[in-house]
Amino acid sequence: MYTNTIEADASTEPDMSWREDALCAQAGPEFFFPAPGSSTREAKLLCSACEGRLACLEYALRNDERFGVWGGLSEKERLLLRRDQDRG
Ligand code: SF4
Repeated sequence: MYTNTIEADASTEPDMSWREDALCAQAGPEFFFPAPGSSTREAKLLCSACEGRLACLEYALRNDERFGVWGGLSEKERLLLRRDQDRG
């Protein structure tokens, strides 16, 4: 669980260097933004091998990205993580 390692701090400038090595850059956007009801399994598998995964997830949480797979988590999983963080 990422709860103790991810902090969405909007007071600092985001470091976007993780995008330079983003594995998803080699896949099409449909891979990470699948149609509703489609599997996110392959995208998550790619994320699991991506060095920028935690930074990517932090960015998505900080910017309230609502769609697609970011940092290995789907929209629903990020929403649940955000709720867990809000509860303390
Ligand atoms: S963690 Fe996943 S979505 Fe984020 S940059 Fe890496 S491959 Fe792309």
